[in-house]
Amino acid sequence: MPINTPVVIEIDRKTWLIQEYGLDCCYALLGEDSGLLIDTGCGRMNIKRLAERLFEGRPYDVVLTHGHSHHAGGAKQFEVVHCAESLSEVCEEDYISPDFKAPNFSFVAKNTEVIPLFTGDVFDLGNREVLCIRTPGHSEGGCSFFDPQSGIAFVGDAIGKEMKVSCVADALTGLMLLKRMTPGMNRIYPGHVDYMDYRALPAAVLEDAIGACRAALAPDGRHYHKDGKVQFCSVTLEYERGWAELEPHSPYPLGL
Ligand SMILES: [Zn+2]
Ligand SMILES: [Zn+2]
Repeated sequence: MPINTPVVIEIDRKTWLIQEYGLDCCYALLGEDSGLLIDTGCGRMNIKRLAERLFEGRPYDVVLTHGHSHHAGGAKQFEVVHCAESLSEVCEEDYISPDFKAPNFSFVAKNTEVIPLFTGDVFDLGNREVLCIRTPGHSEGGCSFFDPQSGIAFVGDAIGKEMKVSCVADALTGLMLLKRMTPGMNRIYPGHVDYMDYRALPAAVLEDAIGACRAALAPDGRHYHKDGKVQFCSVTLEYERGWAELEPHSPYPLGL
């Protein structure tokens, strides 16, 4: 089936998942006063126009879970974004599915200002406050966002069906912090979900991810060393069985 339509669905009240042609997911949250756009996709769609439509003309902030180009590729459509790392310029054509048949879309890149993000940053949308928590590991400046109103944690690539972790120790620190700072969290939406399946990951997956990192770092754990640091691992989570398996593999390009 050709993939040629971005899909937007409301996953909670005033909370939308934006599926960019099966490539990645962005999220839009609206409070009484303003909106929050989490990630900007590859830049293959007019995410700015879509966000403005969802936010009903209200002001909004743009935050990025990390700088990898299939989440930050659309950032240059905006004057200002918030991100804890620099935006990747790496082209990811290999990442694009052969089924991808999206209409051509291009935009004139703005000279986007990047404001750094820190744990504890709060985006007050008006009777709805969204909290930033730094969750590095997949990338150095990874961030997650917790919305107590819906109970959803938006984690980018910090947790996914397969976690690609560039530093397991950093990932464990970030995930432990995420656990501590998300009381009432009831589900997780990552930066990638299947094109026709919009189910969230269960909250318990956070424990799986922590367990997988701990197993990797244990003295008898299977991990991959480079320059004395544990890194470049792929952690595959088996949700149904509630446990995770670690598969060391060769380094993958950090642009992914
Ligand atoms: Zn990534
Ligand atoms: Zn990603």
